[in-house]
Amino acid sequence: MTFLLPITGSFAQPAAENPTVAMIEAAFAHHGLDWRYLNVEVAPADLGDAVRGARAMGWRGFNCSIPHKVAVIDHLDGLGQSAQIIGAVNTIVRDGDRLIGENTDGRGFVAALRRVVDPQGKAVVLFGAGGAARAVAVEMALAGAARITIVNRSAARGQAVADLLNSRTEAQADYRPWTPRFAVAQDTDIVIHATSVGLFPDVDAMPDLDTDSLTPAMVVADGIHNPPHTRLLQAAQARGCRTVDGLAMLVQQGVIGIKYWTGVDVDPQVMRKALNDLGL
Ligand code: NDP
Repeated sequence: MTFLLPITGSFAQPAAENPTVAMIEAAFAHHGLDWRYLNVEVAPADLGDAVRGARAMGWRGFNCSIPHKVAVIDHLDGLGQSAQIIGAVNTIVRDGDRLIGENTDGRGFVAALRRVVDPQGKAVVLFGAGGAARAVAVEMALAGAARITIVNRSAARGQAVADLLNSRTEAQADYRPWTPRFAVAQDTDIVIHATSVGLFPDVDAMPDLDTDSLTPAMVVADGIHNPPHTRLLQAAQARGCRTVDGLAMLVQQGVIGIKYWTGVDVDPQVMRKALNDLGL
């Protein structure tokens, strides 16, 4: 018997609205892991102290969310492959005395998508070029997507993601300006929405794309997890598309993070149920 429990957690600001703790602790409980996950609010100026504290207290690992995903890199000892390409970290893993930064945003997305379609050889249209979109773009490329078209409001950010894919991965990428009522090309296999449009409380907001251009052959995925049944996914389902929601991405990120920390493969259904029980 030991009263010294392994600690994991999350550093973010704001932290109160992040439901990750509920799904992680549900998985710990379900699998008999007597671990803890502490959801901690950390201001940017305090991030270095927080990481040193986690190190000093022997935390087994932690997540970093907005606004720390890039800044935390200065406080770590190394980066995994995709975190290096993406230039951002959301999961920190302890390896002996070293803290290694990984990025599971994109990998969680790809794991969720794979339950519906294999990205290998597919033509993808990706809306967005922020942190989440960048992670998703890199992981889709590493998963073998053949062509990735980045559509974003800011041309500079969109072009930067396309350039990153062309220079660091095998995928062919291009940037297209986000013109009003953007029509998705008919030879597209997978449509991904990774901007913040439609995120609570703006739940009625809809990314400005021509939903008539969506066909039943396309898979449509949305990164927004609150609400999971976004207006975009509702429109895609009405057009006969198969869909993947942002909760599936969040859950799969949790599965990957817990595997890193504990070595245990947890049941995603348990985590999904914990989130559903919250009314998300
Ligand atoms: P960023 O702030 O880094 O990027 C925001 C993106 O949204 C940019 O591409 C931005 O375009 C675009 N955008 C914002 N407002 C508009 C608008 N009115 N019209 C068109 N484009 C707009 O945020 P993140 O990438 O970190 O997060 C994006 C979303 O992904 C969030 O909603 C977040 O909740 C979600 N997410 C979901 C996860 C999950 O597990 N389900 C994990 C991580 C994120 P521009 O470059 O022109 O400013």
